[in-house]
Amino acid sequence: MHLARFNPVRFAHLPTPLEPLPGLTEALTSESGGGPTLWVKRDDCTGLAGGGNKTRKLEYLLGDALANEANTLVTQGAVQSNHVRQTAAAAARFGMACEIILEERTGSHAVDYTMSGNVLLDELLGAKIRRVPGGTDMTQALAEVAAEVAARGGRPYVIPGGGSNIIGALGYAECALELVAQANEMGLEIDRIVTATGSAGTHAGLVAGLAVMGADIPVLGIGVRAPKETQESNVFRLAVETADLLGHRTRVTRDMVVADCDYVGAGYGLIDDEVIEALKLIARTDGLLLDPVYTGKAMKGLIALSRQGVFDGETVVFLHTGGAQGLFGYQGELQGKLG
Ligand SMILES: *Cc1c(COP(=O)(O)O)cnc(C)c1O
Repeated sequence: MHLARFNPVRFAHLPTPLEPLPGLTEALTSESGGGPTLWVKRDDCTGLAGGGNKTRKLEYLLGDALANEANTLVTQGAVQSNHVRQTAAAAARFGMACEIILEERTGSHAVDYTMSGNVLLDELLGAKIRRVPGGTDMTQALAEVAAEVAARGGRPYVIPGGGSNIIGALGYAECALELVAQANEMGLEIDRIVTATGSAGTHAGLVAGLAVMGADIPVLGIGVRAPKETQESNVFRLAVETADLLGHRTRVTRDMVVADCDYVGAGYGLIDDEVIEALKLIARTDGLLLDPVYTGKAMKGLIALSRQGVFDGETVVFLHTGGAQGLFGYQGELQGKLG
């Protein structure tokens, strides 16, 4: 797997640490007597304006944007999108303009949700923001904004939601390589990787990277939006295409893609008591901050599955994909529930 061929630009703080989670491991073990030994891959520490998983994707996407002599990044996301924040920061860093479309996907009009957290940071980073109602055709909206930029003489580069195309997914093929190298160095045998899975680039890139390397480590994606069938087929399609770009299309097989979408709750970006319990538990056992939309939901799933004995005796690496900046967008929902 020779990633330098794709000319990423380098700005992420890599490698991110791979650390044990002794507090949560102990808490889950003492409840059940079994349970997994937990580690965390700290992709919340990628370094770009708060970091998170989109930064690795953006190294490859910015490489492509610069090769195309673009001067304006155009992207979209939910109102509290971490992807949008990291894209706005990458644009600033490379002297590019940034046009953002925020979809009012959760229906929340709370002032913290619509103005604080990631939105405050998008504005601070100088991005131009438009807002559209939930259910808008976002692919179409991106094309319209790109056409507007071009009509005024700009050179737009469109990044899909979550940076999840084959170029962005290369960032997670690289993460797979980095993680396996760290585990080999430490003598750590990983039985499973658990990650939140949304727009699919992270999950697909990991699966493609592991398959192309022949590392045989299963990945469990915990869904945050779509039902299982849809999520698995989105991830599979992108993983195959990413492996193809790496020259080894046939190494990704359908059985390598597993998503558990039973922890979405009421919907994307909507939190519930189990998510709040997960946020509190790991904050208090290991001092680790998760986010309400992705990692909190993935941790809700990981905790529930651990309690069911699914990971007994395994060494499980939780991929921390970032997002704690979004906590401030949920202040009203968390208030009074943190005791
Ligand atoms: C975007 C995001 C994810 C999901 O990654 P995808 O590549 O979109 O599946 C997970 N966690 C956080 C914090 C994110 O911002």
